[in-house]
Amino acid sequence: MSNQISAQEQQMLQQGIQAVAAHLQQKIAAGADSVSVIRFVHRQLDQIADAPGPQGMTLACAAGCDHCCRQLKQIEISEAEADLMLSVFTDAAQQQALLQRLQQSEATAAHQPCVMLEQGRCSVYAVRPGVCRKAHSYDAAACAALSEDVPQNLERVLRSEAMLLGLRAVLTPAQSRVAPVNQALLAAAARAGWFSADASQS
Ligand code: SF4
Repeated sequence: MSNQISAQEQQMLQQGIQAVAAHLQQKIAAGADSVSVIRFVHRQLDQIADAPGPQGMTLACAAGCDHCCRQLKQIEISEAEADLMLSVFTDAAQQQALLQRLQQSEATAAHQPCVMLEQGRCSVYAVRPGVCRKAHSYDAAACAALSEDVPQNLERVLRSEAMLLGLRAVLTPAQSRVAPVNQALLAAAARAGWFSADASQS
């Protein structure tokens, strides 16, 4: 889908962001922590995704279709979501295996898919970030061709974007800082103490 939206759509988006941020601020004021706020936003994104799309259009997305998971440059996630994704890796051997893949990805100049992609499927589907929940397409061939004009449901895009930007508005600057997914996960692994970030740079 082209990034061009009308002034009216831009206004709707801004209003949506403000409404989402105000709602999330209320949750935080009531004691919600960042993880529960993120999980709330993820549930909202899933509900938006489940809503019926335009009549006569059939989503091309299906289990095993992984074109968008391979467009690494376009998958940017926040620090807070990267921390959440890594939180499911509680086993030390799993952590080290993932860390090795992340470090290999970092060291490879060639284009790499998301490190969480395994045999065409997301290995952390339950905690996948908001940008992945927003992603959808009505034309898998356009995704495969890395087209910049993948046909999408504009309403879904705008509502999802309002959720994501509203979330970003209420997280701390550090939590909301975004980076390409593999890079963000490697930084999250350092924060989680899986390895010393200093050691990785020596
Ligand atoms: S986190 Fe999962 S859904 Fe998102 S890009 Fe990676 S493999 Fe794909």
